Amino acid sequence: MTGISERAQNIPPFIVMDVLEKAHDLELKGHAVIHLEVGEPDFKTPDCICQAAIAAIQQGHTHYTHSLGILELREAICDHYFEKYRVKVGPDQVVITSGTSPALFMLFSVLLNAGNEIIISDPHYACYPNFARFLGAEPALIPVSEAEGFQFKPSDIKAKINARTKAILINSPANPTGNLLAPERMREIAALGVPVISDEIYHSLVYGVQEHSILEFTDQAFVLNGFSKAYAMTGWRLGYIIAPQAYIRPLQKIQQNFFISASSISQMAGLAALRSAQADVERMRLIYDERRKFMIQGLRKLGFGITVEPSGAFYVLANARHISQNSYELAFEILEKAYVGVTPGIDFGKNAEGYLRFSYANSLENIKEGLARLDDFLKRR
Ligand code: PMP
Repeated sequence: MTGISERAQNIPPFIVMDVLEKAHDLELKGHAVIHLEVGEPDFKTPDCICQAAIAAIQQGHTHYTHSLGILELREAICDHYFEKYRVKVGPDQVVITSGTSPALFMLFSVLLNAGNEIIISDPHYACYPNFARFLGAEPALIPVSEAEGFQFKPSDIKAKINARTKAILINSPANPTGNLLAPERMREIAALGVPVISDEIYHSLVYGVQEHSILEFTDQAFVLNGFSKAYAMTGWRLGYIIAPQAYIRPLQKIQQNFFISASSISQMAGLAALRSAQADVERMRLIYDERRKFMIQGLRKLGFGITVEPSGAFYVLANARHISQNSYELAFEILEKAYVGVTPGIDFGKNAEGYLRFSYANSLENIKEGLARLDDFLKRR
């Protein structure tokens, strides 16, 4: 193809979107699809957050903000990290972004030169390697095994580090596995001498376990976080980076050029989320937990392999190799024959081939119906 840059030609699509689009086609033809492929909360954004956004508009908070973000929000993020993890960071170490996705792009841009490597687990959130390759860097992928709960082994990371390694990326609780990295392992990873990027977007969505921030183990680390998941705010596009002070100015320059600032209205909403929505977060967490237990039990009953029970985020990565080795074909077959949307493991790396990711960010009623349809599909198959 002419006229389209190699960079744009080479970036792979997000496969889950292909499933979603096919599901929409089926819906247009009158089929009711159960969506277990989605990676976003089904809850409405809590009312106190919406009210704060309405007030922000009415009070004229409708202009660009400081490129680093509104100071009160940066301070509230520091307070949140102190209250939750007892770590001290200053507002001059925080950059507010238009979601965690731009935060990832900005941070990778600041850390990675062409030819550099970033260590990423396989499976991993689909977009991580794509961001790295877009910048000319290479994802150094390390397979993590189901038997280990898909946890990184610090010794594997150590063996992968070389002169080109610029960062180690961790994500706990993780997408797509729903598992957490043990704090002892986080401590060991933090001590390897390579900057750690910790994607903490699924923090607060944990069930019977405690999540840890990388900042509890080192201050030479980068936190990525956002409001999409815990506060059911995917459409508001609000996230942030916490970084060592020396990196703030480079991040700020990228923000100024590419994005100017995050949305002023969303930032005011984010402030209300941190100050007033903790009870809502807890309410949603308890509902997710109920669904989680139901889904794990139901999938196991259908014969899917779940070695370590996921205890965070809202996903179950289930082993479906006994049904098919080709998760892409299987996901589409399930969609077309059972009208249930699931995400093929291959979206999350070669090591997740043969797995399917099920999301429980859907009502118990829909999950029940989805599992019943799967049961029927498997019996017929
Ligand atoms: N990181 C992970 C692990 C995610 O699952 C997602 C959303 N699916 C993101 C980052 C991006 O989230 P957002 O841009 O909505 O903040």
